[in-house]
Amino acid sequence: MNARAHRLKVREVISETADAVSLIFDIPTDLTRRFAYAPGQYLTLRVPSEHTGSVARCYSLSSSPHCDERPTVTVKRTPGGYGSNWLCDSVSGGDILTVLEPAGNFVPRVWDRDLLLCAAGSGITPVISILKSALAIGRGNIALFYANRDRESIIFANRLQQLARGYPRRLTVTHWLESERGLPSARVFALWARPYRRHDVYVCGPAGFASSVEQGLGQLRIPGGAVHKENYRSLTDNPFEVKQAMATVRGTAAADVATVRVDIDGETHTLPWPRSEKLLDVLLNHGIDAPYVCRESACATCVCTVKQGRTRMLMNESLIEDELARGLTLACQTLPESDDLHIAFDQ
Ligand SMILES: Cc1cc2nc3c(=O)[nH]c(=O)nc-3n(C[C@H](O)[C@H](O)[C@H](O)COP(=O)(O)OP(=O)(O)OC[C@H]3O[C@@H](n4cnc5c(N)ncnc54)[C@H](O)[C@@H]3O)c2cc1C
Repeated sequence: MNARAHRLKVREVISETADAVSLIFDIPTDLTRRFAYAPGQYLTLRVPSEHTGSVARCYSLSSSPHCDERPTVTVKRTPGGYGSNWLCDSVSGGDILTVLEPAGNFVPRVWDRDLLLCAAGSGITPVISILKSALAIGRGNIALFYANRDRESIIFANRLQQLARGYPRRLTVTHWLESERGLPSARVFALWARPYRRHDVYVCGPAGFASSVEQGLGQLRIPGGAVHKENYRSLTDNPFEVKQAMATVRGTAAADVATVRVDIDGETHTLPWPRSEKLLDVLLNHGIDAPYVCRESACATCVCTVKQGRTRMLMNESLIEDELARGLTLACQTLPESDDLHIAFDQ
């Protein structure tokens, strides 16, 4: 079993809409530190499966560590989907679920900036966590654009109304209902977003929505590389099943092996790094408990900093230009280019 997986009790299940539930977790005292999270992060839940033993599914935390007592995820049914329907149908208060520690990079680093938040459907989950936190600990203004199929499918409608009343000067909430106005086009979104074009942007929603928002932001000359985006998808890998070592440095010519010093969990390891092997695989092969979930560059759980040396990524679906400029990389996709490298898991 993955060392970052823990059995947690579901304290309560709240029905949010006809097709969405929130699961509130009890965290035992000895796990408090491990389940400390930042607004915008997510948990990965193990969903039992008769066919494969289990599947892993990520769900963003809709709670805020600054205003809510317990971590809560909100799951919306995906039509025909396995994990979301199992969670909505089968979980009750008192049940135990196996859950990975919080992860993810969809997190504001500074809390006093103005925010432009864009969500559609279940994409509201990390967005409301960021929104509640920014109101509680920041000083900036927040504009939320929130698209839904119809009025009945708006998750957190009442909570958002309360927040908008409580912070009339700082929070503007705009609901967009497909049943009344169709899908939001890039042009319509750009018109709405123009007053907020200098805000920091966070987007979470289905691909079509995210693409309209990004095109609209492009029309306002906000570059795609500056927009923080959370991509929902189901994992194909299963981080609950630990894989056996896949490769070995033995038999690899010396010229094909770099050396890397890795700082992780308060320890430093110096390791040979075959040039064709991804950093995460090297670490796991050496029995080092590096954090990971998707291994496909989407979740950013394995994000780390290149302190010395040059590396390259095979794929990158989650780090934006600003983060790359700060030396961040995804261990699951990183290969060495220099001979001597230093990497720190410090994010
Ligand atoms: C970082 C992150 C955060 C997330 N946060 C949330 C959140 O807060 N709330 C939320 O509700 N979701 C969230 N998700 C999405 C969530 O993890 C799941 O992807 C989602 O619930 C669908 O999972 P599922 O098992 O129900 O669907 P799946 O079974 O994975 O199916 C997904 C789709 O694929 C189709 N499909 C399934 N199997 C096949 C097949 N064999 N052939 C063809 N098509 C098939 C299904 O019909 C369905 O349309 C998040 C994802 C990520 C990566």
